[in-house]
This record gives sequence, structure tokens and C-alpha cells, in this order.
Amino acid sequence: MHVEGVNHPLERFMGGITINGKAVGRLRAGHLWIFRDDLLDARAVEDGDVVSLLSERGRPLGSALYSARSKIALRWVAAPGIEVNRDFWRARLRTAMAYRSLVVSRTNAFRLAFGEGDLLPSLILDRYGEVVVMQTLSRGMERRKEMWIELIEELLSPAALIERNDAKVRLQEELPLRTGLLKGAAPRHAICRINDFDFEIDLFEGQKTGAFLDQRENYTAAESLLYGEVLDGFSYSGGFAMHAARNGAQVTAIDSSSEALNCGRRNAELNQLKGIEWIEGNLFDYLKKFEVDGRRFDAIVLDPPAFAKNRTAVPAALRGYKEINLRAIKLLKPGGRLVTCSCSYHVSTPLFLDIIASAAADAHRPLRVIEARSQARDHPVLAGMPETRYLKCLLAQVL
Ligand code: SAH
Repeated sequence: MHVEGVNHPLERFMGGITINGKAVGRLRAGHLWIFRDDLLDARAVEDGDVVSLLSERGRPLGSALYSARSKIALRWVAAPGIEVNRDFWRARLRTAMAYRSLVVSRTNAFRLAFGEGDLLPSLILDRYGEVVVMQTLSRGMERRKEMWIELIEELLSPAALIERNDAKVRLQEELPLRTGLLKGAAPRHAICRINDFDFEIDLFEGQKTGAFLDQRENYTAAESLLYGEVLDGFSYSGGFAMHAARNGAQVTAIDSSSEALNCGRRNAELNQLKGIEWIEGNLFDYLKKFEVDGRRFDAIVLDPPAFAKNRTAVPAALRGYKEINLRAIKLLKPGGRLVTCSCSYHVSTPLFLDIIASAAADAHRPLRVIEARSQARDHPVLAGMPETRYLKCLLAQVL
């Protein structure tokens, strides 16, 4: 019989896994993942268990969440001697909440738990005002879903808790894709307050969990550069476009998703912003068209979806980033500003800088890098785990 509560049986019994020296080295360097190839033997473990880890010599290395299906077999959670029970998870969530009170301001929409970056591997929690959106992206977290529902209720008492488990990474764990209401009541759309804007969020069908919260601080950093005639390429619901329009810019916002643009139009209305033209289309085509038409811009934002979703896609992704940046740089007026982003983890910051440099060189336009930024601070980076630092956002200017 399953007894829910503090001494949940699934947390009490621990099987053990021995890992090889390579995996031990990775853990020591601060990484949390252990790949299936590095497991030596497994005793009495089941999918989703918290298991104790041992080195080949039998040294205890702490405990980890076990996934039987994915390439990432183990996700480290705690040092040796720490019992991983409901109180343990509760304390981790409280730590994540306390961190947000240090780094989050001017918004009631932010990431409350960023998986590995909060030592809560594969758990994502986003707060949109009174609503919490959850993703449990591994077998271990999926198995603890009921516990998370209770802990979220206890610590946050949101008006609604929504599951956005439609993220494709769940397929790596052979978990089903699913979206739905887990608790309370929520409208399809929520209005949040982000950087002093009203922002409409499509809670059930918007991209990611509804918004690109990772760009919130970049909107502010870019804002002073976004004036004059501005192109917001890959605009989604207009995060950058609205910040530009607040400066009195004439903005052309382009996205391939009509849903995203409808949301953007409502956002502009909600904030009484004039001067944004919303265009549905393929940005690659529009960049060519603007070149032919002789249209030029004072500032261009490029925030495409991840072109490289895995390592093998990197060469094609690099060509894609190079193409849009080359075309954009050519479309800038003298002194024009470029805000260019990449959310592909597999394209590192130095590599991204190289691509931008080579795009500028090919365009015969010297480019000044004003600032190299990353994701907002509510998406914290875990030292030793480069995968947690995925977003690049460069602010630049042609000279
Ligand atoms: N800058 C946005 C986030 C952009 S996400 C923000 O801050 O909210 C990437 C967007 O690119 C998505 O909205 C997606 O619909 C759009 N997109 C994907 N491929 C595209 C293409 N070829 N042309 C134009 N838009 C595209």
C-alpha cells in the first residue's frame, strides 16, 4: 500500500548504483548529470528512485534521481548522509523562493525554479501572478508530481497550478506530453505585470510556459538602444517591440506565428502603445525583401528559436545564425544597433561572438560589442554545469 506523507516509502528505501571514475570526476567538477554509459552496476533500483551513488572503491557520493530510459541516467541531488525526503524537497523549494526575493523585481512573472540551476534537477516552476506553471521533465520528478502539487499549495498557495508537460525533452525520458490544470481555476490567458507593462500570457498554449521570461532583463538592457525605426525579428508576443514602442520607436514586429502576433496586438492595446506594425511571415524572407526594397533600420532585434537543438545540428545552426545576422547588419543605418540572441546551448558565447564578428566582416561593417549578456537572474547558472547557461544576448552597434 502507498502511504503519502513525510515518510513516503519511495523516499525511504534506497537502491545503490556504482559509477565509473569519469562520472566521479564530473560530479567533483560540479556537474549534476551522469550518463548511462558511466554506470557500472545497479542494485535494487527502479525508474524514478532516489538512489545512493558509490564510487568503484565503494565511497559514498550522495544521492541522485534515477531515470531508466534516458541517456541522462542520474541527476545528483544531495551529499552523502542527507536523507532525501519530503522535507528535503520542501527546503530546496524554499531556497529557490528565497533566491528570487533577492534577484527579481519589477515583475510578477518569473521563473521560480530553474531545474539544475536550483539543485532541483528537471523541475521547472514559473510564476505568472497568481498562477504557477510546472514542468516535471524527468522520471524522478514526474514520480514526485503529487508531492510537488502539495508543496506548491503549502508554500505558494497559487490560485491555480498548471502542468505544461508538453516540452519535447520529456520524450527523451519516454514520458507522455501533457498540458492541463492540476489545481484551482485559471483562465486561458493571464495578464501579468512585467517591467511595468501589462503582459498577456497564454497559459495553456503559449510557447514555453507562456512567455520568454529568460529575456526579461535583456528587454531592459536593450531598451535605450531601441529607438527610431526598429525591426523586432522573431517577436513572439512583442517583448522587445513594446519596450521599443515605449521609447517612441516605429516598430516592425515579425513572427511566423499568428497566435503570437494576436497576443502581441492585445499587448500593445493593453499598454496603449502606438507604432507597432505586426507582420506574420518568415523572417528570412523579410530580411531579403527589406534589402531589395532598400528599407533600413536604426535598430534590429534577432531572437530566433534554438537553431541547434543538439550537437549534430550545430553546423547548420551556425549557417542560420550567420545568415540572419549578416543580413541584419547590412540593413542597419550608420550607428544602428543590433540586439542578437541565441538560445542554443550547443552554440557557446565565444562561438556566437565569432559568428557575429564574421557576419560583420562579410558585411564590411565594423561592429562594436556593447555588452554580452545571458539569461535573466531568475534562471540561475550552476557553476560546473555549462548546460544551465544557454542564452546569449549581444548588444552591438555598427560604426
Ligand atoms: N523575442 C521573443 C521570443 C522569440 S521566440 C520574446 O522576447 O518574447 C522565437 C519566435 O520565433 C517564436 O515566436 C516563433 O514563432 C518565431 N519563429 C520561428 N521561426 C520563424 C521564422 N522563420 N520567421 C519568423 N518567426 C519565426
